[in-house]
Amino acid sequence: MSFTDLHLALEQRRADSLYRVRRTLETAQSPAVRVDGRDYLAFCSNDYLGLANHPDVIKALQNAADHYGVGGGASHLVNGHSLPHHQLEEALAEFTGRERVLLFSTGYMANIGAVNALLGKQDAVFEDRLNHASLLDAGLLSGARFQRYLHNDTDNLSKRMAKTEARRKLVVTDGVFSMDGDVADLPAICKAARAEGAWVMVDDAHGFGCLGETGGGCVEQSGLGVDDVQVLVGTLGKGFGTAGAFVAGSDVLIETLIQYARTYIYTTSMPPAVAAATLKSLELLQRESWRRNKLDALITQFRCGCEQLGLELMDSPTPIQPIMIGESDQAMAISAQLEQQGIFISAIRPPTVPAGSARLRVTLSASHTEQQVDRLLGALESATTAIRMTSTGR
Ligand SMILES: *Cc1c(COP(=O)(O)O)cnc(C)c1O
Repeated sequence: MSFTDLHLALEQRRADSLYRVRRTLETAQSPAVRVDGRDYLAFCSNDYLGLANHPDVIKALQNAADHYGVGGGASHLVNGHSLPHHQLEEALAEFTGRERVLLFSTGYMANIGAVNALLGKQDAVFEDRLNHASLLDAGLLSGARFQRYLHNDTDNLSKRMAKTEARRKLVVTDGVFSMDGDVADLPAICKAARAEGAWVMVDDAHGFGCLGETGGGCVEQSGLGVDDVQVLVGTLGKGFGTAGAFVAGSDVLIETLIQYARTYIYTTSMPPAVAAATLKSLELLQRESWRRNKLDALITQFRCGCEQLGLELMDSPTPIQPIMIGESDQAMAISAQLEQQGIFISAIRPPTVPAGSARLRVTLSASHTEQQVDRLLGALESATTAIRMTSTGR
């Protein structure tokens, strides 16, 4: 009896245009995809550099699978920590300029594990209100006093820190905000944290590979070291094109995580071949800066085009270029219009984003062409015109 309300909740979600459905991809990640039997040009992948389907990365995975097999076999602390994992940790430590790195199976788990290894009931955590769900969940789960500060607002953060008594204070922020595409004001955040003796944790899931001279993300871009950003998180399923995540920091931080991070200890290691593939994508991402340059050109092209169409963009210098729509039903309607024109972009709705800020989350990739971005702009023009006409006629 007590679960009979489940279907009512589902119906309500549908009525609110918030119902989510999965689409089945029949091809690899690439601009041209086949989804549920139809061909589309996609602008919603997080494979920003086009490495998810790169022949050298695939080859590295195949070669490592020949040697190491498929499964990780056990947790890292039992006998699942293999040579490719270890080599990847060392390469990522060098890449991030940190003493050590620890691999996690997903970014969600890295965030839950790191925050919970560092904080308990005597502590306080301060999170940007637009942080990724995994960071918010991590803070809530820790039992630390939990506060959300106004988006990228260092004054609000400082005031909250000054008013809070705690054993440890941890400031947690996305590097690049995943639904808006803007970049955290890290120099100001680090300065404010330092004044309060707080540590800073940056999750740069969307910055690694895309930002910084060698793809080192927003921390490289702003030149912040381990004394400014003590806990640096990267995920491997986005710009790196593979899967998994890492935390970079001091030797003491990493040892603490090995001892106390439950999402590290109580789970099977990622497949070793995925670590080997990531070593290859790290090498490509560092060495071949043309992908970042090409992305920058596509971003400029897209933003100029949208401006001419009168579309509302966000303040984003990154490949995440959301078009703000507002109501969920409108966002869904435009997304459906685009689909009819063979363009695949998913509408992002609450609760992923605040109520009334549904959007089309356009993402660009270095594997898109200038012509494909032009095609997107043309499709956006007709889709938004059609929707505006039906909504004013209503
Ligand atoms: C995608 C994302 C994660 C989760 O990473 P997974 O490896 O996909 O679990 C964490 N943080 C941010 C900011 C993200 O965008």
